[in-house]
Amino acid sequence: MDNDIAKVLYSQEDIKNVCQKLGKEITKDYAGKTPIIVSVLKGAIFFTTDVVREIDLNTEMDFIDVSSYHGGVASSGEVDLVTDMGSDVAGRDILIIEDIVDTGRTLKYIVDLMMQRSANSVKVCTLMDKPTGRVLKIDADYVGFTVPDEFVVGYGLDYKELYRNLPYVGVLKPEIYE
Ligand code: 5GP
Ligand code: MG
Ligand code: MG
Repeated sequence: MDNDIAKVLYSQEDIKNVCQKLGKEITKDYAGKTPIIVSVLKGAIFFTTDVVREIDLNTEMDFIDVSSYHGGVASSGEVDLVTDMGSDVAGRDILIIEDIVDTGRTLKYIVDLMMQRSANSVKVCTLMDKPTGRVLKIDADYVGFTVPDEFVVGYGLDYKELYRNLPYVGVLKPEIYE
């Protein structure tokens, strides 16, 4: 598996440090509140479990599965709700946890859905932000790393469902998807 990686962008240590930093900020900003942490499947699961353990607050957790990539390396432009969350969003403070924001389509879809359902507030925490890919005007409130315009895998992020279990984030060798 490691043989398919051209370079490591963020090591386990880098990720651990960034989760601690984000967890502290979120703890401070949400003092006195009980947010619902909404993790976006499947890519954000590793990041979610690490960052929530750095949040020193009462939180609820839920999951939503939204798909825009359909297995390739470029966004399809369409967002489908694959599996909805179960929690009642009305009046609640929602913190969406994402793996990476690229075009912004996935995020916009989920944020709009939460607003339609009358959330009290909606914020977004993403492990990675790829601002060069942005098509829609939307930004995350908490960003771990700002990444170059490269297709990354590992720590939850896949290429054709593989590489999610790499403990770091890296760039695939181009021959893998060429
Ligand atoms: P967006 O809707 O912002 O274009 O894309 C969001 C989703 O596309 C992310 O949640 C992620 O699942 C996928 N994605 C975007 N960029 C990358 C990337 O560099 N690597 C991988 N593996 N997935 C990506
Ligand atoms: Mg995602
Ligand atoms: Mg994917």
